[in-house]
Amino acid sequence: MSTTDTDTAADHAVVVGGGPAGLAAAEALACAGLHVHLYDAMPSVGRKFLLAGKGGLNLTHGEALPAFAARYGARAAEASQWLQAWSPDALRDWARGLGVETFVGTSGRVFPADLKAAPLLRAWLHRLRAQGVVFHMRHRWQGWTPAGGLRFDSPQGRVEVAAQRVVLALGGASWPRLGSDAAWVPWLREAGAEVAPLVPANCGFEVAPPWSAHLRERFAGAPVKPVALRFGAAFDRQGEFVVTDYGIEGSLVYAAGAAIRDAIAAEGRATVTLDLLPAHDAARVAREVAHPRGSRSLSSHLKSRLGLDGVKATLLHELLPREAMADATRLAAAIKALPLVLGAARPVAEAISTAGGVRLESLDAALMLRSRPGVFCAGEMLDWEAPTGGYLLQASIATGRVAGQGAAHWRPRVHG
Ligand SMILES: Cc1cc2nc3c(=O)[nH]c(=O)nc-3n(C[C@H](O)[C@H](O)[C@H](O)COP(=O)(O)OP(=O)(O)OC[C@H]3O[C@@H](n4cnc5c(N)ncnc54)[C@H](O)[C@@H]3O)c2cc1C
Repeated sequence: MSTTDTDTAADHAVVVGGGPAGLAAAEALACAGLHVHLYDAMPSVGRKFLLAGKGGLNLTHGEALPAFAARYGARAAEASQWLQAWSPDALRDWARGLGVETFVGTSGRVFPADLKAAPLLRAWLHRLRAQGVVFHMRHRWQGWTPAGGLRFDSPQGRVEVAAQRVVLALGGASWPRLGSDAAWVPWLREAGAEVAPLVPANCGFEVAPPWSAHLRERFAGAPVKPVALRFGAAFDRQGEFVVTDYGIEGSLVYAAGAAIRDAIAAEGRATVTLDLLPAHDAARVAREVAHPRGSRSLSSHLKSRLGLDGVKATLLHELLPREAMADATRLAAAIKALPLVLGAARPVAEAISTAGGVRLESLDAALMLRSRPGVFCAGEMLDWEAPTGGYLLQASIATGRVAGQGAAHWRPRVHG
């Protein structure tokens, strides 16, 4: 069955994708007085947003704007513009307007007071419906018709929608079972957009060679903390990560992840350096390791002199040759700088977010595709990346607003 629907009226707009970026775009369009139709492939919107709620929903971050924008790396200049349009404070005010107070945690991360996503999403959808936004669920966008209409597969069959103003907010490629499967990449390329390959961001890394069975069986899931991780000249930070079956993951790994991923892509592997005792200086570690241990085993010596045991001690045994373990100088040096070789990023489907996407050079400042006037893009489908810490939702929602406002103010060029 094939039906044709038209939303070409000047006061109509279509949003495809009901994640935080698409909902923010719908809100901006509705606030500008447009009739908004939002289409999503899934039976309900905001599924990844709800999943983020399982980890406490880190909405944004409390740090000042220049430092905030720097988290977007090569895209800091563009991010700075988005943040001017929709700042972290504006996001917190917006949440308050939906009845959800937020707080700044000790790390500077901002969370809803109840650490939940569902109440915020519920209130947001309620307000969007009251503003007249119409939701079309189970409508999977399948690209454009030759005449330029939007083609959807729906339970009613093929649906075609002609719209003057469209915001695409289709997400990246992580966690595809929540709706974002990146099927849009070839259609956007055909439409003239440059799309950088979608690769994992904020992901785990596999160690090379794999962990021993002993380490996997005894320590998969164990946190390593405190620990400092160094990579290249630019990354040296203290934090924590988790040992997994395949290697390592966690906030400290995510923070260095883009550089590690890119190094593996270029060179096939990347070596990070771990400082297992960041609170102890090298001289003290050397002194304690060299302290006579009498009849005590090396393990009890390291535990009693330095508090080094459990997963940290096992990492030393795993990564150091036996003769280095027996040499106090080499062992002390390794405790402060233990090389760990990483051979691969985990697949993008497992990652928290995606790098790559529609290149910002293919878009104008309002996030409209230069090659297809009237079509705007927002959220994680754009080519930016950032570490965890609230930067992902902040940019998704901010770009949703920028695109929504851009679409609301856009006027087709009249020929003749
Ligand atoms: C486990 C996990 C925890 C996270 N925690 C946090 C956190 O605490 N803080 C933070 O800042 N970020 C977090 N994130 C990241 C954050 O959730 C995403 O960056 C954000 O949801 C991206 O928003 P988006 O609207 O661009 O895309 P999405 O949320 O992915 O939404 C895209 C929407 O488009 C729809 N869609 C896709 N293709 C089509 C199609 N062809 N037709 C119709 N509809 C389509 C999808 O169904 C989906 O509803 C987390 C992510 C994960 C996986």
